[in-house]
Amino acid sequence: MFFFFIIGTRFFTWGSGENVPQQMQCGRCGTVASFPLKKGMNFITLFFIIPVIPISGVKQLAECPNCKARYQIGS
Ligand SMILES: [Zn+2]
Repeated sequence: MFFFFIIGTRFFTWGSGENVPQQMQCGRCGTVASFPLKKGMNFITLFFIIPVIPISGVKQLAECPNCKARYQIGS
């Protein structure tokens, strides 16, 4: 038998269903909108898709609804 594992890292996000309370302007495309809030975390992954070990805390991100640029919120 021959086993091999492909290890990588990947940033996973999930939506919280909330929006940033105030309007923001996207620094990339200039869209002004109430950006949806996302939570995200960096994981070490197996075969690129299976999250195994979290390597960062949960981060709050705002995602531009137009170009999908992500901005970290808070500290
Ligand atoms: Zn944008």
